[in-house]
Amino acid sequence: MRNLNKYLEDVDAPENEIKAVASTISHELRTPLNAIIGFSDLIQEVESIKDIRSFAKIIELNGSMLLKKITSIIDFSVLDYYSDLCLEEINVNKLVQDVYNNFINEAEYKHSVRVEIKTKDNDDSLIIYSDRTKIEKILTNLLSNSLKFTNEGCIEIGYEVIKSNDSNARLLIYVSDTGIGIPEDKQNIIFKPFRQVDESYCADLEGLGIGLAICDKLSKIINGRLRLESALNKGSLFTLELPIDNLFARQNIIRVKNVLIVEENEVNYFELKDCLNKKSFNVMRTCNVDNLNGLINAIANLDYVIINSGIEMFENAFRIRSLHEKYPQITFIVQTLEYDGLIMFESRYDNLHFINTPLNKEEFKELLNNCLAKKMVLASG
Ligand code: ADP
Repeated sequence: MRNLNKYLEDVDAPENEIKAVASTISHELRTPLNAIIGFSDLIQEVESIKDIRSFAKIIELNGSMLLKKITSIIDFSVLDYYSDLCLEEINVNKLVQDVYNNFINEAEYKHSVRVEIKTKDNDDSLIIYSDRTKIEKILTNLLSNSLKFTNEGCIEIGYEVIKSNDSNARLLIYVSDTGIGIPEDKQNIIFKPFRQVDESYCADLEGLGIGLAICDKLSKIINGRLRLESALNKGSLFTLELPIDNLFARQNIIRVKNVLIVEENEVNYFELKDCLNKKSFNVMRTCNVDNLNGLINAIANLDYVIINSGIEMFENAFRIRSLHEKYPQITFIVQTLEYDGLIMFESRYDNLHFINTPLNKEEFKELLNNCLAKKMVLASG
């Protein structure tokens, strides 16, 4: 009998879900749209400037609300197709502080709610390689929800590292609140798209029920997990759990990298150097390409050679390729005018990359981040 009930429940579930989703979408999109149409009609009939202004304000508010909702539907729909990871070095302490600083303005209007942060001042020791934008998006969303569902008390953001053993550290970034809480039987469904605890319309707490579904997808993309603990009328604790690769790998990556820039031109040299964060890179320079082989050989622990292929691009590219074959552990980045012609080499050699002249700093930094992330994967594997 129990099994039969369960079977019927399971069979019923999709239909209920579809109904709930349809009613949420219909309600959440129609409500602002109806307001826009209704007040646009009214505005044509009134004469007082005061009325016109106040109706225009209502139209503007509903328009931006509608835009926000449509944007999150689009974000959610394209997430499966455009979910590239953009890895970079992240100072966790600073990231949490940045998210907090951006949020406190949003929270200012709720005087009955304190927003607190638990981080360590100037702590630069916890570095991870992950996708900053995605983490920020998740945390911002969690904070906005906490603000929406907390009427008094406190919202807190913070982080901690849990070390079960040396090779298995985890980073937990949390957002907690003393808000209305989430009943146990709803704690799973709220991570599904368009689902909410209270699916009846509530004008104050309008929302599409899509934010947590986006957060959940984003955390999976960054190889993390989103967890929830909550008690009704007491509050909620959302935790983003991220793996930290084994500590040895981290230390290996955090070691300052030695970079040799082969560049005669002062302006080019300083442009490249400017992209190399002082804390992570120890930069050396040579203008002389004649005895590059000897120089590379002489520098202990050289990680990168950044070199301008100059006018004799193809000839130099072949020379660089043979250097790369001799020193496969070094990453060679070749700046060239003939990017399209030389890029074919890149696919054949793991540690050989080409960038355009003139330098595009953003592209160069992205390439460096990708190289660092690749070295981290190799070190931890
Ligand atoms: P939205 O907030 O737009 O409805 P979300 O997917 O972000 O969509 O949240 C889904 C539902 O989960 C919310 O409607 C609310 O019922 C519940 N919820 C989310 N965060 C909290 C929170 N901090 N406290 C209480 N309920 C929450």
